Amino acid sequence: MKVVVTGGAGFIGSHVVQTLEGVSDVTEVVVVDDLSTGRAENLLGTTAEMVQGSVLDDSVLDKVLPGAASVVHLAAVPSVPRSIDDPLRSHHANATGTLTVLEAARRHRIPQVVLASSSSVYGANTALPKREAMRPMPLSPYAVSKLATESYALAYRACFGLPVLPVRFFNVFGPRQPLNGVYSAVVPAFVAAALEGRPLRIFGDGRQTRDFTYVGTVAQVLVAAVTRRVSVPDVINLAFGTRTSLLELITELEEVLGRKVEVTHDQARPGDVRDSQADGSTLRSLFPDIQPVPLRAGIEATVTWRMGQDTLAAREAAASLAV
Ligand code: NAD
Repeated sequence: MKVVVTGGAGFIGSHVVQTLEGVSDVTEVVVVDDLSTGRAENLLGTTAEMVQGSVLDDSVLDKVLPGAASVVHLAAVPSVPRSIDDPLRSHHANATGTLTVLEAARRHRIPQVVLASSSSVYGANTALPKREAMRPMPLSPYAVSKLATESYALAYRACFGLPVLPVRFFNVFGPRQPLNGVYSAVVPAFVAAALEGRPLRIFGDGRQTRDFTYVGTVAQVLVAAVTRRVSVPDVINLAFGTRTSLLELITELEEVLGRKVEVTHDQARPGDVRDSQADGSTLRSLFPDIQPVPLRAGIEATVTWRMGQDTLAAREAAASLAV
């Protein structure tokens, strides 16, 4: 079985590739990634074929899609603040990019397309937990582009019978999540600051809540969806219904590090939602055997990975000085 992973050199994508490689039915994994935020090094140790190119480019998709049993479409410009700085770029990569992938999947009669959407689509709809049937109320261009992603997928299912599985990720974290400066997600930003002895920067009061999901769990669900050919007539949440405030996240981090950290508060950012918690019942009914990695274990794995990166960077800096 051949599987194509768009955005496979990215944070979540590289974990999906790694997990796919452990499945005996999967004989070939091909990654399409323009390396805009992804890194080829994320695929070191895998045998995946890396095709550098954009999902907006038909010639790239026509080259890699033939013979694929599934496409896992993760390629996107994945950030709320980035989309506020450059809404058109988000739209092109996320909405037009998805449409281009779906068109190519239709052309090549691909039996399944799994796509990444986001909890950000719930936006201003404050009801908790977030049920898939709730009205989406996007608050950012990113959220709109992700709503377009899942809506196009469902439209392709309705109009062309394309088996799709659009999945709303919540706050995914873990090893290989990039820092990306001001665009950084909260867990890598906090872990890096804590390890470097800098204050942790909180936007708002820190009582905003998130449903953090460890990246290994996300990869496990996506790979099970591929191997079991799961396709449902609606979008599904991919999170397990936990609700952790940023202040609680910091306490977890302090317990993992065995010391207190310093924090600073800045103004809440536009486009950020206040609270996020999934109703994970559809997910649990589709994948009853998958148990999420607990937050504490996920933070430990992330800290360990980050410390390894820092050691590597220190060794490389020392080696370059020695030359
Ligand atoms: P990431 O930036 O690490 O991965 C995105 C990948 O897509 C990168 O490797 C990037 O180089 C690639 N890419 C971007 N534009 C491309 C294009 N035009 N053609 C080919 N490749 C392109 O981010 P991630 O966190 O791994 O996100 C993966 C997916 O999950 C995205 O669709 C994102 O919107 C979605 N998502 C992530 C989270 C999260 O918490 N990380 C939450 C909700 C949704």
